[in-house]
Amino acid sequence: MSSATPAASAMAFSKRLDRIEISATLAVVNEAAKLRAGGADIVDFGAGEPHFSTPDHIKEAGIEAIRNNFTKYTPVAGIPELRAAIASRHAQDFGSAYKPEEVVASTGGKFALFNVLQVLVDEGDEVVLPVPYWTSFKDIVAYAGGKPVYVETHEGDGFLLSARMVEAALTPRTKVILVNSPNNPSGAVMPPQELEAIARLAQDRGIFVVSDECYAYLDYTGNRFSLGSVQDAKNNIVIIGSLSKTYAMTGWRLGYALGPVALTGALQKLQSQSTSSTSAPVQKAGVAALTGPQDCIETMRTEYRRLRDQVVSGLRAIPGVKCNMPEGAFYAYPNVSSFFGRGEIRTAADIAGRLLREASVATVPGAAFGTRDHIRLSYAVPAKNLQRGLDRMKQFFAGL
Ligand code: GLU
Repeated sequence: MSSATPAASAMAFSKRLDRIEISATLAVVNEAAKLRAGGADIVDFGAGEPHFSTPDHIKEAGIEAIRNNFTKYTPVAGIPELRAAIASRHAQDFGSAYKPEEVVASTGGKFALFNVLQVLVDEGDEVVLPVPYWTSFKDIVAYAGGKPVYVETHEGDGFLLSARMVEAALTPRTKVILVNSPNNPSGAVMPPQELEAIARLAQDRGIFVVSDECYAYLDYTGNRFSLGSVQDAKNNIVIIGSLSKTYAMTGWRLGYALGPVALTGALQKLQSQSTSSTSAPVQKAGVAALTGPQDCIETMRTEYRRLRDQVVSGLRAIPGVKCNMPEGAFYAYPNVSSFFGRGEIRTAADIAGRLLREASVATVPGAAFGTRDHIRLSYAVPAKNLQRGLDRMKQFFAGL
């Protein structure tokens, strides 16, 4: 090796990079893929993504776009048709009133959130982050230079967040309150009146509530709520949405942010210096998803609800495992702390590691989401796989 090409270990990467770690959910994807390549028959409850295929009419729209050479650059925030479709679908389903210019389409909801925090947060600004949180929240905040201020919710209260809990965490440095309902990983659905009260706190203080609503359609309480419906606080609300879960489109990478025009302008400025727009044919597929038949959403939601009941009763049947009933999203978040201290087991990560190696079941340890006692299972898998995984887990825990 020439002296001009230092080993990676000796390279000076940016200090910013040291503020974050690799996504724990995606690390499980990599680990499971490695074991699978080595011949292991893994039941994968790791990364949360729909097991359904993208509905045919959406796929056809993407294919058609490519055939029609709709393969060039588009405006940064998305083609007008897509921005209008996002705004009008949201208005119809959630009672919001966003105009197309208040919409920015991005390469996935995660990137929309990343950009929003980059444009809102300065070095040292505080971001209120309820625990448990989706693993990437803390890293995205840290990369923007922000300081996460954690607000613990409690398992005994269904991991529910209240405005009072958020209020107690506010300081003059608070810039953003980051909420997520239905919640990844707990499945908790926050009471709409509490979310609205949190938006009022943001409004009173002239700060922002950023609401990650990627699972808004996967709500089993019979409600469907978006903070976008609180129209008179619009200047202090940013909605993050995604087509990934709603239409089984994770790999297409299409998400969006909704917010006041000044913010969507800032997002376009930033995005114009990174990805530009999301991919052109994907945008056409997105238009088909949002304006075409919507019955696929209910079909999938009904199946997730069935799988939810199956996973919770399976987990509750394992002696020593406790599990809340998740009201939304597609995650179960069982408490496995009764096994700590058995043999070599000290942490939930020890359990997740042994489950993967000894029982070939992939899960994500709760530490990734800010809690000690839990592991996360994504139950967006075929019912047969779910049962196989539960059977393996039962046997594994019985042997501890
Ligand atoms: N949101 C999913 C999860 O939590 C997808 C993976 C990711 O981007 O983290 O597993």
